[in-house]
Amino acid sequence: MRIGVIGAGQLGRMLALAGYPLGLRFVFLDQSTDAPGAQVGRIISGAFDDRRKLAELAREVDVITFDVENVPVEAVAEIAATKPFLPPVAALGASQDRLHEKTLFRKLKIPTPQFATVDSLADLEAAIAKIGTPGVLKTRRLGYDGRGQYQVRGPQDAAAAWETLGSVPLIYEQFVNFSREVSIIGVRSTRGETRFYPLAANTHSAGILRYSIAPYRNTSLQKQAETYLKRLLRHFDYAGVLTIEFFVAGGRLIANEMAPRVHNSGHWTIEGAQTSQFENHVRAILGLPLGDTRALGHCAMLNFIGTIPALGNILRVSGVHFHSYGKEPRPNRKLGHCTINAPSPAARDRALKQLLRLKVD
Ligand code: AMP
Repeated sequence: MRIGVIGAGQLGRMLALAGYPLGLRFVFLDQSTDAPGAQVGRIISGAFDDRRKLAELAREVDVITFDVENVPVEAVAEIAATKPFLPPVAALGASQDRLHEKTLFRKLKIPTPQFATVDSLADLEAAIAKIGTPGVLKTRRLGYDGRGQYQVRGPQDAAAAWETLGSVPLIYEQFVNFSREVSIIGVRSTRGETRFYPLAANTHSAGILRYSIAPYRNTSLQKQAETYLKRLLRHFDYAGVLTIEFFVAGGRLIANEMAPRVHNSGHWTIEGAQTSQFENHVRAILGLPLGDTRALGHCAMLNFIGTIPALGNILRVSGVHFHSYGKEPRPNRKLGHCTINAPSPAARDRALKQLLRLKVD
């Protein structure tokens, strides 16, 4: 079987690496011919909305998936009519617009911060009056890793926030005073089989995931998270991996966003779960039996962002698993990650501390 992946980033690359042992072949569509996926599969070079290149990809494969969310929905809806395209286009569309996403959360009774749509300074002032401060003004589309966000501390920040982000559709959200951020990753196959991974606890730095601890064991939150994710999986008649990121506040989950794809907070599953999120994603979209999602130990996953320590220094940490994405270093760019799968939480925390102290030469 051949799988087409729109986007050849590190997620696509890890999908291919998980699929090869199953005898699967991968072809990517990406503008950049030296994207991380290029080292493990053929790249069709083209923009995500290039109809001709999309058709070429569709001709070569049995099923199409994607590793990024900024895939133009109109363009892929056309190929989705001719070739299995999973996860469903509707889930991709909902994830691309924070307003649609949060409106859907509300409809499915998944708690989410109070929000209001903002298309003018007057809208923002009205939203601040209604929802209060502090709050976060965000671009509705194409915001990721904390980009396109402005923290509004009080009503006096409205003009500056509007000035900084204005001219594109925005959303104003209540700021959640969270005790922790967690994510749930679930997977549903085309046959309706569904499985959930244990929660991961995520620490961000400047809006970018820095590290995850998994499993984050909390029976009540795990149950809540699975209930909410199940609603989304059913709503979309979903196939593939789906992620929800939550804030934890007052012992409750508040959904921040969903991602209709494999997720950075699930990289620990490569070495730390019985079946990785990547393998389960390909199994799910091919209608194959899903693998066990159980955690094998106590994991920490650390991202290398912007710079990367010397390989020898990383590998000196006992038990470390290192993944380089083969990217040119650039500020705020995820260049690689490493995972520790330890026999106890204490051993995991010791190893994470060691990794966090690694110096970049
Ligand atoms: P996002 O791009 O929405 O995932 O936001 C990136 C990070 O900014 C989140 O992981 C949080 O750490 C922080 N953040 C975003 N929205 C809020 C909010 N409404 N309240 C508190 N923190 C937020």
